[in-house]
Amino acid sequence: MMSGASAEIDGRVVEPLPDETILSAARRLGIDIETVCHLPGHAPDGGCRVCLVEVQGAARPLAACHTPLGHGMRVRTSSESLERLRAAVRELAGSNPPAGTTDTSHPYLRFSPALCITCRRCLHVCQDVQGADVYAVAERGADTRLVFGTDERFETSPCTSCGACVEVCPTGALSDVDRETALAATRTTRSTCGYCGVGCQVEIESDTRTVLRIRGVPDAAVNAGHLCAKGRYAHGWRESPERLTRPLARIGGRLEPVSWPEAVAIAARRLEAIRAEHGPDSLAALSSSRSTNEAAYLLQKLFRARIGTNNVDCCARVCHASTARALHDALGVGAATACYDDVERARLIAVVGANPSEAHPVLGARIVQAVRRGARLLVIDPRRIDLAELADVFLPLRPGTNVAVLNALCGLLLSTGAADREYLASRTEGLESLERHVLPAPLESASRVSSVSVGALRAAAQLIADAGPTLFVSGLGTSELTQGTASVRALCNLALLSGSIGRPGAGLLPLRGQNNVQGNADMGGAPDSFPGYQPLDDPQTRSHFAALWGSVPPATRGRTIPEMLEEARGGSLRALWIQGEDLAQSDPDQQRVREALARLEFLVVQEIFPTETSAFAHLVLPAAGWLEQDGTFTNAERRIQRVRAAAAPPGEARADWQVIRDVANALGCDWDYATPDRIMDEIARAAPRLFGGVSYGRLESGGLQWPCPDAAHPGTPRLHEHGFARGRALLGHADFVRSPESDIAGFPYSLVTGRVLQHYNVGTMTRRTASLALAPCDRLEIHPDDADREGIRDGAAVEIESRWGSCRASAMRTKRVSPGTLFLSFHFPETHTNRVTGPWHDPDSHCPEYKLTAVRLRV
Ligand code: SF4
Ligand code: SF4
Repeated sequence: MMSGASAEIDGRVVEPLPDETILSAARRLGIDIETVCHLPGHAPDGGCRVCLVEVQGAARPLAACHTPLGHGMRVRTSSESLERLRAAVRELAGSNPPAGTTDTSHPYLRFSPALCITCRRCLHVCQDVQGADVYAVAERGADTRLVFGTDERFETSPCTSCGACVEVCPTGALSDVDRETALAATRTTRSTCGYCGVGCQVEIESDTRTVLRIRGVPDAAVNAGHLCAKGRYAHGWRESPERLTRPLARIGGRLEPVSWPEAVAIAARRLEAIRAEHGPDSLAALSSSRSTNEAAYLLQKLFRARIGTNNVDCCARVCHASTARALHDALGVGAATACYDDVERARLIAVVGANPSEAHPVLGARIVQAVRRGARLLVIDPRRIDLAELADVFLPLRPGTNVAVLNALCGLLLSTGAADREYLASRTEGLESLERHVLPAPLESASRVSSVSVGALRAAAQLIADAGPTLFVSGLGTSELTQGTASVRALCNLALLSGSIGRPGAGLLPLRGQNNVQGNADMGGAPDSFPGYQPLDDPQTRSHFAALWGSVPPATRGRTIPEMLEEARGGSLRALWIQGEDLAQSDPDQQRVREALARLEFLVVQEIFPTETSAFAHLVLPAAGWLEQDGTFTNAERRIQRVRAAAAPPGEARADWQVIRDVANALGCDWDYATPDRIMDEIARAAPRLFGGVSYGRLESGGLQWPCPDAAHPGTPRLHEHGFARGRALLGHADFVRSPESDIAGFPYSLVTGRVLQHYNVGTMTRRTASLALAPCDRLEIHPDDADREGIRDGAAVEIESRWGSCRASAMRTKRVSPGTLFLSFHFPETHTNRVTGPWHDPDSHCPEYKLTAVRLRV
C-alpha cells in the first residue's frame, strides 16, 4: 500500500528521491519508457514527447523526462491511448524531413537532413560537453530543422570536430567517416590517446592491421567518453605510405635498408667504438615524450648503466623544465599539485599562459563547462584565446612580462590583507622576504611594462581575494621564456599566498604538451637525476641503483639538450640517440641545430616517419606508433595509464623498448625483459617512493596517480594535502628581467609561437591525416591595425624576420592578438618557424624562449 510520502508507477510503490523525474524513478524500478531526445547526464529537453506518461489528476499526458515525481503521484507508463499518442508523435517527427542532400564539406563529419528528427540531442551534447554551441533549431512546427553555422555547412561552422554529436544522434543524421568502416572491426582495445598530456582513454576498433574507429571510454576518469578531433579522428597517419618500415643505415652517403640484426649490430658497434675512443660523455640520448614510460626508462638505463654517462635529456627541456625546476625548489616536487577533477571543484580557475581549448581540448571543454556552471575565470595571456571570451577578468599582457604581472598580483594580495595568513604561517617560509621584495614595486611600473592597466591588475587580484584557494592552470606561456623558472616561481608564490596548494578545487595544474612528457621526465629522462627524481650524488641512492643495475654513472649531472647541441657543434659530443623527436624542426635557432646534427659522427633516430632530423641520421630505426605498442603513459595529473597495441606496426617497425633492449644486449647487457610489464616492475623497484605500488595488474581500469609507494596505496590525486615534501613551502624571489628579445630597434613585433587545435607538435602524424583539410598550413596571426599599416591582406604571404633567421607564412588578420604581437604555429616543416626563434634559454632550466622573438615583417 502506498503511504503519503510514496508514489506509484504502474502500480509499483516508489519513494521519490530529491529532484527525481518520473523517467529516472521508472528506470530505477526497471520500467522501460521509450525516449528519443533524452540524454542521460544532461538536463531534460522534453522536446520529442515520446516519453509521455499519464499522471492521475493531470489534464493531459506529461513528458516523463522532465516531470518531477511528486509524493502521492500515480503514474501510468503504458495504455492504448498513450501508444496511439506516441505513434502519432513518431509519425510527425518522421513525416516532413527537411530537404537537402548530405553535407560532406567536413573531412570527418556528415549531416543528412533527411534523417534528422530534430530531437536536439546533438545540440545538448555540443552545449553541455564541448561548449561549442554549433547547433540551433530553426523554424517551428512541421518546418522545424537543425541548423549549424551561418551558411549551414560543417566546414565553415564553429565545429571543433570533437564528434560528440555523432555519438548521441539516434538516427544517423549526424555521422562520421569512420562509422561505416567500423563495421569491419574484429576487436576493441582500450588504450590512452597519444596526442597530448590530457591522457584521454580511448576504445580503438580495429582489425589486425587497420585502426577503423576511435571512441572515448564512457566511464574514464579523465574524459568520461569525450575526445577531441585529434584523439577521435586523426589516426589516418598509420596508413601513410611514408611510414618507415625497415631499418636504414647510411652506406656510401645514402640511407639504405638493412636487416634488424644488422641495424642492432651497427648501433652497438658504433656506440661502443666512440665510447672507447672518446669516453662515455661523448655520447648522449634523448628519450621520446611520444613513446612509453618503459622505452624512456630503458634508454636512460642503457646510457647511464652501460655507456656510463648522464647525458640523457628529453623534450621536457624545451617545454616544462622551468615548471619542474620552480615547483621542485618551492614545494619539493616538480609536478602538478592538483588533478583534473579539481576543475569541477574550483571556485576560481586562473588560466595563465595556456590555451587548453586548442592544445588540451578535452580539459579546455571541462573548464568551459565549469565556468558555465558558475566557476569564476581569470585569463592571463598575450592572446585573446577562446577562454578569454568567458573570463571575468582577462589580462592581455605583453609577451615576456609574466613576472611583472604575477609579482604585482602577489603585492596586491599582501597589501590588501587578502593573503591567507593562517595558511602562510603554518605551511610556508620566506614570507617576510617576499613582502620586502614585492611590496615596494609600484603597480604603475608593472602596468607600464606589461601594458595591462592598473585597474585590470586590481580586478584580477580582487577575483583571487574573493575566491581564496584558486586552481592555477598554466602552460608553455609561463615556461618557454628566459624568465620561465621565474614566471612559475611567481605563479607558485601567488598560489601559496592564496592558500591554494594542497586544497580541493585549487592548486597548480601545469598542462604538459606531449602525451608522455610527464612520464619521460619521471623515468629519468633528465641529466641531473635517476628515475623518480632521485639525486645522482646521494650515496644511498647510488648503492640502490648499483645493486639494481650492476653499475652507475658518475655523480655529476650530464648535458641538457642545448648543451648537447653546443658540444656537438664544437665536436666533443660525437654520438646522439634521438628517440621520436624532430629536433631539426622543433628546436629553436634552427640553423645552429642543423649544424650540430650535421657534425655528429653517429646519429641514431628512432622514428615513425622520415623527419627533418632523420635526414641527418646514420641509422634510422622504424618505430611503432602510439596505436601500435604496449606500455604506459603518464598524463599531466601524474596518472599512469595503460597503452595497448590495437594493430600491428607496418613492415618491420618495432616497439621502441624492444629495440633498445636488443642494442643493450648486443653491448653485453643481459636484459631479459620479454614484455613491458617486466620493465614496469623494475621501475617500481627503481623509484619505490613514487612508483612502488604500480604494476600492470593495478593499472587495468583507471590508472594510478603517483606517488603510489606500495601495493595497498590508492595513488595520490592531489599533492601536499598533509604537508610539503620539503617541509615548508618556500616563497622565493622572482625578479622581473627584460627579455633579450624585447624592445629591439628595427624589430617592432613580438612573435609568440605555439599550437593550433587541429595539429600536434611538429605535425608528423596530424599532417598525414584528413585534419590537413581543416588546417592546411601554418598561419601568422596579426592584428588588423598592424596588417593595415604593413599593407598585409588576409592570406598574403609574409616574410617574418628576426635577428636569427627568417621564414614565410600566410597572414591571418585577427583581433585574437593585440597590436604589436604576432602568433605563428610550428606544425609544418616548410614554414621553418624555428629559423626565426632565437638562441636564448632560461638560465635555471635551459628552456628556450619560444614565446618571444623580436621580428619585423616584409610582404
Ligand atoms: S542530427 Fe541527430 S541528434 Fe541532432 S537533432 Fe537531428 S536526429 Fe537529433
Ligand atoms: S584532449 Fe588530448 S588526450 Fe584527449 S583526445 Fe584530445 S589530444 Fe587526445
